[in-house]
Amino acid sequence: MTQGLLEGKVALVAGVANKRSIAWAIARALHDAGATLAFTYQGERLEDSVRTLAASVGSETVIPCDVSDDGSIDAAFGRLGEEIGGIDAMVHSIAFAPAETFEGRFTDTSRAAFHTALDVSSYSMIAMARAAEPLMAARGGGAMVTLTYMASERAFPKYNVMAVAKAALECSVRYLAYELGPAKIRVNAISAGPVRTLAAKGIPGFDQMESVIEQRSPLQRNIEAADVGNAALYLCSPLGSMVTGTTLYVDSGYHAMGM
Ligand code: NAP
Repeated sequence: MTQGLLEGKVALVAGVANKRSIAWAIARALHDAGATLAFTYQGERLEDSVRTLAASVGSETVIPCDVSDDGSIDAAFGRLGEEIGGIDAMVHSIAFAPAETFEGRFTDTSRAAFHTALDVSSYSMIAMARAAEPLMAARGGGAMVTLTYMASERAFPKYNVMAVAKAALECSVRYLAYELGPAKIRVNAISAGPVRTLAAKGIPGFDQMESVIEQRSPLQRNIEAADVGNAALYLCSPLGSMVTGTTLYVDSGYHAMGM
């Protein structure tokens, strides 16, 4: 159905930890549409598993990039430029907050935890967009997609400081879209419903989030990572050519409900 949609296009996917990662579902959707893929991963611990997954979609471009370190971002995008020239799409599927922030009270969020959560989960999108800009300009434009969660807009018990990070991320998307639009670079966020991933394991009450979606969302069932992959494909492909600065909900319609 989507075959050939991204033929001749190159996409960078950041945030694959394992086969359950949302980034991996996106990578597969982009690959199925014909894109050539490059991957970044955080540290040595993940290198082997990311390389194995990358090989399964015909990619050998697997580069370390710790988004909390400007030097690491510069080195990664420098290598990308050397190895593949330009990119047409970038997927930012990265977030982190210290475990204790999900357990305690939001009111008790420390300055250090706030800094870490916003640095890794929000500022990283700005830093990566800046680094990707010349690589997309080299291709005459491109599309960037990041992942967010509706706790940015309404209080979700225990999501705590990560919710603030997602609010900053969504706001950053609007400003990036505004500034990069003239260069034909589109920037969007996908607000995904709960998906069982490594990161999701750290969120207390995750099971409850899933059962609320089943009970109260219009579609009355939980999403799968592949649903996010399809939405990312739409945003990265010509199908989404006039869509920028927006948050697209892939959440069984739950965001539309009042109760
Ligand atoms: P995941 O598989 O654990 O992916 C999170 C990724 O972020 C991992 O690859 C992780 O690498 C990476 N990361 C963390 N710190 C990093 C750093 N300093 N530098 C580079 N990479 C770093 O979990 P996921 O659920 O797919 O999460 C992907 C995105 O979707 C996140 O933004 C998340 O908030 C968002 N999201 C998830 C859900 C859900 O229900 N799962 C719902 C809505 C939105 P390490 O494993 O090495 O830390």
